Amino acid sequence: MTTPSEKHHQEDFFPNYKLSSSLSGNNQDEVNLLAAAVRSSHDSIVITTTQLDYPGPEVVFVNPAFTRMTGYTPEEMLGKTPRILQGPNTDRRVFSQLKQKLRNGELFFGEAINYRKDGTEFHNQWHIEPIRNSEGKLTHYLAIQRDVTSEKEAEKLLVYNAFHDGLTGLNNRSWFLNTLKECLEKSHNFQDYVFALLFIDLDSFKLINDSLGHSVGDKFLKEVARRLSNSIRPNDTLARLGGDEFTIIVDNLDDLSLISQITDRIQSNLQQPLFLGTQEVFTSASIGITLSNMGYESAEEMVRDADLAMYRAKSLGKSRSAIFNKTMHRVAVNRLNSENDLRKALEREEFEVFYQPIIDTEQKKLVGFEALLRWHHSQKGLISPAYFIPIAEETGLIIDIGEWVIATACAQNRLWQSSSVHDSLFMNINLSPRQFKQLDLVTRVDNILEQSKCDRTLIKLEITESALLETDDKAESMLNELRELGIKLCIDDFGTGYSSLSRLYKFPIDTLKVDGCFVRAIGKNGRKEKILQTIVTLAHNLDMKVVAEGVETEFQFNKIVENKCEFAQGYLFGHPMNAQDIEKTFL
Ligand code: C2E
Ligand code: MG
Ligand code: MG
Repeated sequence: MTTPSEKHHQEDFFPNYKLSSSLSGNNQDEVNLLAAAVRSSHDSIVITTTQLDYPGPEVVFVNPAFTRMTGYTPEEMLGKTPRILQGPNTDRRVFSQLKQKLRNGELFFGEAINYRKDGTEFHNQWHIEPIRNSEGKLTHYLAIQRDVTSEKEAEKLLVYNAFHDGLTGLNNRSWFLNTLKECLEKSHNFQDYVFALLFIDLDSFKLINDSLGHSVGDKFLKEVARRLSNSIRPNDTLARLGGDEFTIIVDNLDDLSLISQITDRIQSNLQQPLFLGTQEVFTSASIGITLSNMGYESAEEMVRDADLAMYRAKSLGKSRSAIFNKTMHRVAVNRLNSENDLRKALEREEFEVFYQPIIDTEQKKLVGFEALLRWHHSQKGLISPAYFIPIAEETGLIIDIGEWVIATACAQNRLWQSSSVHDSLFMNINLSPRQFKQLDLVTRVDNILEQSKCDRTLIKLEITESALLETDDKAESMLNELRELGIKLCIDDFGTGYSSLSRLYKFPIDTLKVDGCFVRAIGKNGRKEKILQTIVTLAHNLDMKVVAEGVETEFQFNKIVENKCEFAQGYLFGHPMNAQDIEKTFL
């Protein structure tokens, strides 16, 4: 039978690591050789006695690597306990494990913070082994030690980088989601614990980034991060999710007014002018808010709702906040459903083009139509383009839908042209901003016109004023190319954007449609009426004809005649209607 101590004789650990028999003839040579290896070892080596209890083992040997690592010479160490390497940050729990292992006669691997002679800290990693004599009696402990401080620091940096945003130094998305999960769990366990999640999106970041460049954009974000940090309490946590999106967890919310205090502070800190090199810029944020006590199961749901509330805040204008409510959720779900349905609407043939008459004001006769799209939803009935066109825009579906409208309206125009007593009825077709940004738009339109074989000179594309403004550089050449196809161009909803007519003179525009709001203002808002007059005068100076939109009453009609608008469109002359009804009523 072998006792445990015999079993753990040192040669059992590494049975093959013995000197070759050719060298083991002279005992002293053998000892010298091994001693030289120990002295020149790169790892520090310490041999101690076996006293585990107070005052601890005594050092009987240290090698030069130990002195290099700790600053202690052999003279300073011999007879002392290795415990002099310990200090205030040394985790003493390691030592009870150590004692336990050594008492069992086992090897020990471990690490702890130790202190050099000059008082500096380092991470010491050891491997300690019990040494027995030829009779199997425990005589010493051999400790091989290594300074792993740089590895530890690299590891720490990796962990830091994994949870921090490189640009601003704030916590990042993964850190934020972890923390949010913890907070939510806490709120499930403690009824009284409520926190708020703020989702922040800057109102002007894209503009700054696009116009002043990315390095200025980076500086801007750093400064915003600093201002946001200054807006919260020490217990609240701020993170950057990416881009210009930030989140704040407002901890321990015992008073709801705390939220508005924080959002007010954020807005007022952001409103201070910000100097980026020579540029002075202003910013504000849209903030969506949701509360932990609204029955959230997961962190993701909470982020989703704060994000929805942020969109709501943005739609209210700049510098606004909105608290999430269930209606927002319904609106978002509806929108998502509409988006899915919209994807199938073309192939299900749910679209129909309606036509609204346009009248020559002088002769009071029909001169053309505007094509207006309608969506017959299988369950929801007729859906307004004001609702679904923006969705089609955002999803890009407008490209296919828009082309279908152009093709349908052109074909219809050709049909009416050949059968009607009215000659030269023109057809206005709306072109969305997204369509206008397509690089191959001209070729696409040309192909459709070619296929429909309609009279190109009768087709007018309506482009909104804001779409023109968005694509400033390319707009002019794009419009010229469209004109070269033989068609005409019209600016839609004029007066709602912020362009000055003087900027429009270079565009080859034939007609200008004054937005309906000016017509509605007739007899009600003197200032707007004046603007209407000015727009008409300037348009005429630029050789453009003017259409007044949304004419509903005789009174409005008389006024626009007085103002010399050449054309009028509105319920007074006819609602938008399908082709059959147009034929019955007007042709
Ligand atoms: P829009 O191009 O400015 O079209 C005029 C809108 O005013 C139409 O609304 C029309 O029905 C409405 N309207 C006409 N007369 C009157 C009136 O006397 N009073 C009032 N209150 N409204 C009048 P609709 O058809 O709902 O279309 C809304 C918008 O949707 C259009 O504004 C246009 O921007 C967009 N849209 C419609 N069809 C298309 C399309 O095929 N393609 C694109 N890209 N956009 C379209
Ligand atoms: Mg229009
Ligand atoms: Mg319009």
